[in-house]
Amino acid sequence: MPELIEVDLYRKAAESALGRTIASVVIPNETYLVGDSGLPKFRAAICGRQLLGIRRIGKLLLLDAGAVSIGMRFGMTGRLIVDGEPAIDQLLYTTNEVQERHVRCVITFEEEGALSMIDPRRFGNVELAPDEGQLGPDAAEITSEELTIFQRSSASIKALLLDQKRIAGLGNLLCDEIIWRSGINPTRGGRTLQTSDLELLASTIRGTIAELSDRGGSHMGDLQSQRRQGGSCPIDGYELERDIVAGRTTWWCPEHQL
Ligand SMILES: [Zn+2]
Repeated sequence: MPELIEVDLYRKAAESALGRTIASVVIPNETYLVGDSGLPKFRAAICGRQLLGIRRIGKLLLLDAGAVSIGMRFGMTGRLIVDGEPAIDQLLYTTNEVQERHVRCVITFEEEGALSMIDPRRFGNVELAPDEGQLGPDAAEITSEELTIFQRSSASIKALLLDQKRIAGLGNLLCDEIIWRSGINPTRGGRTLQTSDLELLASTIRGTIAELSDRGGSHMGDLQSQRRQGGSCPIDGYELERDIVAGRTTWWCPEHQL
């Protein structure tokens, strides 16, 4: 599933379309377009505009078209195809095969080529001028000061890290890997976190994202191969525990995650 690392690969791939002028947009099922613009207004706002910037905040990809931005969210299974080339060859939990019925949004350019969103399970969406203020600071550059808001919440650390309003970009796999590397129990409440915990957490978030970006994806973590029945902690060999935390399947080590 696309997390910050995957969406950043989409951002880099989409950069080849910078400077091109949008000719048309096709959204086969209009419910994929969220917000209050509606398709005619969306088309009027972006067609004829030049693609001037490509940005990412957390898991949100932003295409700056003239004075407005197009937001793309990739949900569980979304992918971006740039000029016919998939930005990521293989994405965990999804099929690589592109089926026509899974094409959710196609933006074509006057010069050449197109950006296409493929999303089999359709949990993603497209929005004109999304509210960027709804997102917390980007996880790739998070600081311990920005995490102090965790100390005012009794929610679990897993829920806090998944909450895109508090910190943007982490999904289930990155969360479990980061919490495991930090030696913190995923069910621990935010209020129990000390300043030293937040410093360790912030540096682990940044470091894990950088390392797994180099390795090629959110699914390249050290814990990944052990996320299964009978899986054991790569640090100390203890059998991992599995439970639903913050509504998501969560794996952790009962020995060193306290
Ligand atoms: Zn362990």
